[in-house]
Amino acid sequence: MAMNNRVVLVTGAGNGIGAEIAKTYATNKDIVIVSDVSGEDAERTTETIKEAGGRATAYTCDVTDVSQITEMMAWIELEFGRLDICINNAGISKWVSPLELEVEEWDKVMNTNVRGTFICSREAVKLMITHNLEGSIVNIASTRAAMSEPNSEAYAASKGAIVSLTHALAASFRTNGIQVNCISPGWIHTGDTDELREVDHNQHFSNRVGEPGDIARACLFLSHKDNRFITGENITIDGGMTKKMIYEH
Ligand code: NAP
Repeated sequence: MAMNNRVVLVTGAGNGIGAEIAKTYATNKDIVIVSDVSGEDAERTTETIKEAGGRATAYTCDVTDVSQITEMMAWIELEFGRLDICINNAGISKWVSPLELEVEEWDKVMNTNVRGTFICSREAVKLMITHNLEGSIVNIASTRAAMSEPNSEAYAASKGAIVSLTHALAASFRTNGIQVNCISPGWIHTGDTDELREVDHNQHFSNRVGEPGDIARACLFLSHKDNRFITGENITIDGGMTKKMIYEH
């Protein structure tokens, strides 16, 4: 895989971490498909990339809809003739007591975070195999796969599933030379940094809250051709928060 001119799909790229991942690949001179459930948000990220001289195309896709995913992959094949990298970033959360969590809410979180990641990976890999490409998949999980606060059941379970799905896919697609990894971000602030307090930063070993660029640079690293020995792995990027002892003194 040459290290630019790669075709990169980023889901949920209309906002937050996904938008920064899309911008980072475009800065690397890759060709980015900015996919999001909101066409307007996908267009906004795409315009920002183009204004900075990058190459990007917006595509509206709801990852809970299997037919929209297969249509998107067919469009990518028609438009670009290949897909080198798939970043499964689209995700939602739900903070509610498990006693009040409705089945429909549970299903929505699972269908977006887990099923969306699975179907996008499966369809991306079909495209990679057709074009004989040793592609790379990066799934965005969360440190909540490993640690919890109350009322996060659906989100925590979905992110744990993404970590497991990642190593299962890495095992299945090894014969196709496809690398599958995931990243577990900790607290990544996607809004105005002025909103953050000193205590927010200082509780981290890194002395600061995470930024979308922390995750975007890790995606670039994981999908670099020299790093193909890393596969099935979950990389935690959280400023040390999940390594922090929590005994009260
Ligand atoms: P965000 O700002 O809400 O961005 C997520 C994007 O995904 C939004 O544009 C959202 O659209 C889109 N999306 C939602 N449902 C979708 C669907 N069904 N199909 C396609 N796109 C959909 O979130 P973020 O903070 O950047 O998080 C990005 C990823 O990182 C998520 O998987 C999240 O779980 C994970 N993560 C974030 C943090 C953090 O601290 N920020 C920490 C750990 C993990 P709408 O805005 O229209 O809903």
